Amino acid sequence: MSNGKLRERLFDRGVKAIQTIMAPQLFIDHPQVIDRYPCPICMRWFSRESITEVGGNSALTLEDVPPKSFPGRSTRLALTCADCNHGSGKFEADLSRYASTVSGSPTPVPVVVSNEAFAVNGYLHAGPRVQVELVRNNPAEFAKLIATAPGGSGSVTARITGRQPYDAAAASLALIKSGFVAVFAALGYSWVVSPSVGPVREMLVGALHSGRSPSIPPTMVVNESGATMDGRRLALVTRPVPALLAQFGRDAAVLPTFKSPADLYERLGGSAGSPVTFGLQPIAWPTAMKLAADFEG
Ligand SMILES: [Zn+2]
Repeated sequence: MSNGKLRERLFDRGVKAIQTIMAPQLFIDHPQVIDRYPCPICMRWFSRESITEVGGNSALTLEDVPPKSFPGRSTRLALTCADCNHGSGKFEADLSRYASTVSGSPTPVPVVVSNEAFAVNGYLHAGPRVQVELVRNNPAEFAKLIATAPGGSGSVTARITGRQPYDAAAASLALIKSGFVAVFAALGYSWVVSPSVGPVREMLVGALHSGRSPSIPPTMVVNESGATMDGRRLALVTRPVPALLAQFGRDAAVLPTFKSPADLYERLGGSAGSPVTFGLQPIAWPTAMKLAADFEG
């Protein structure tokens, strides 16, 4: 299906869903929202013209879940507005760097090569033979390195110090956003507008529209060591507190259900030091914008 046709189909599905769950009075009092698609993240209403490309861009865009740069399959699951979709590009770059780090792809790892005389930035290329590529982004330090190797041919002893190759908070934000859109595609607007989901939506909008990483509760992203990076899973968390889990590879975003308590993330922390075991009930991974809760009540 062409992108234009898919945008049109998702737009129609969204309009039908929002008209199903909102009181008819809303459309009588506010006729300007008839035939409008709310962006499931920021809940701003978009007209049908928003799916038309002008100069290669449209105001409503196809959202890839997870981002295409993540290992495994991604699906264009919903329409989100350009601000919410493109606003996550910076965060998605960190998610991609994180994924290639844990999945062992030969992404160069940033390092500092240093001894008492100099500290030069470089990249460590992992592989059967480890190589360090030096970067000349600090000419003064690079000159000191050259000076310690007389004639440019002497050998130099230095240590290699790694830096974390990605921003963990930014990578988490991108993962949470993908999880949010996956749950929206499965359940719909009735989930998005439920009071328990409000704080997560506000956090996402704040980050995506400003480009700044928010502080994320530590229990909002959980990890399953040993899971394959191309795995996808959606599940209802039944224990220890009602929640939803959207998993991409080894990491999962924990999101509120309709019934989650306001202190969901504190309660998931458990007592200090003891790991929390989740009771899980699988939900079919959405392959299209199903919005099941909107249409099935
Ligand atoms: Zn939006």
